[in-house]
Amino acid sequence: MQNMQKKHKNNRRLFFWACIIGMFLACSLFPGAPAPTVTPVPSDVFPPTVTVTPTSAPPPTPTKPVFGDRFDGERAFADVAHQVSLGPRPVGSVAHARTVTWIVESLEIAGWKAEVQELEIAGHPVRNIIASRGDDTQGEWIVLGAHYDTRLHADQDADPERLEEPVMGANDGASGVGVLLELARVLPKDLDKRVWLVFFDAEDNGRIGDWDWILGSTAFVAALDEHPDLAVVVDMIGDADLQVYYEIFSDQTIREEIWTTAAGLGYQDAFIQEEKYTILDDHKPFLDAGIPAVDIIDFDYPYWHTTEDTLDKVSPQSLKIIGDTLLAWLTAR
Ligand SMILES: [Zn+2]
Repeated sequence: MQNMQKKHKNNRRLFFWACIIGMFLACSLFPGAPAPTVTPVPSDVFPPTVTVTPTSAPPPTPTKPVFGDRFDGERAFADVAHQVSLGPRPVGSVAHARTVTWIVESLEIAGWKAEVQELEIAGHPVRNIIASRGDDTQGEWIVLGAHYDTRLHADQDADPERLEEPVMGANDGASGVGVLLELARVLPKDLDKRVWLVFFDAEDNGRIGDWDWILGSTAFVAALDEHPDLAVVVDMIGDADLQVYYEIFSDQTIREEIWTTAAGLGYQDAFIQEEKYTILDDHKPFLDAGIPAVDIIDFDYPYWHTTEDTLDKVSPQSLKIIGDTLLAWLTAR
């Protein structure tokens, strides 16, 4: 019994030391042994996910400005989507007023001073939004512009029953604003230029009642005490099938500079160095006042002034092509 007990005791001791040595060997052989894998808990133990459908599309969360950041096509697209979520935005509508407030707030979040130029033209309340950075001690004074109002009636619609409906203006209106707002976020703060971002009103109601085209930009140029060195307007530049030709009125030197910059970025398929259209757009009042100006516009857009000018026609990549080009051109100029 005794012996037996002693033998068992010896066996237990041997087993104990074998375990210690075994553990030591395991640790030395696998010094960086990973933590044991956690077996995922099957998903069916969680309560089912509840999907909440918002009653109306929420505004995009204002992103903190990162100056000198690269132009983000998705962020510009979110700005286009927000404008579309407000509905058609013709002059005098509630959606138009909401657009003004939102543009001003977005500019201030991006660190710009913004003011609203309130005008009355032919009895219509017209509001240009002007954001500025820099002063006359800096080099060139450049105006970048886009209209934010949308056309009262879809008078190019294929369906005769829909000609009186308002235009949503995802491309014709919202796309230019999206590009300008993203530029507001990413333009380097130390750019050696005085830059104004101008959001023109009342561009798009020509040939309707007592309206005319380009009312906001015309009044803006007329009210200038001093003239900027040049102006660049973007309009209808969100089309997924982006093809921007030289606009014929535009200043030839500056348009060549911009299109060459685009080619340098690999965007030569979107920026085509050939003249195609003559367009009455917000660059025209600048040209008429002797200020060099360029219109960047893709007029090959079958949904122009129809009810089909909707968000699905706009692509983040097209917005990025325009934004990257303007950012590179402004920085290098
Ligand atoms: Zn239009």
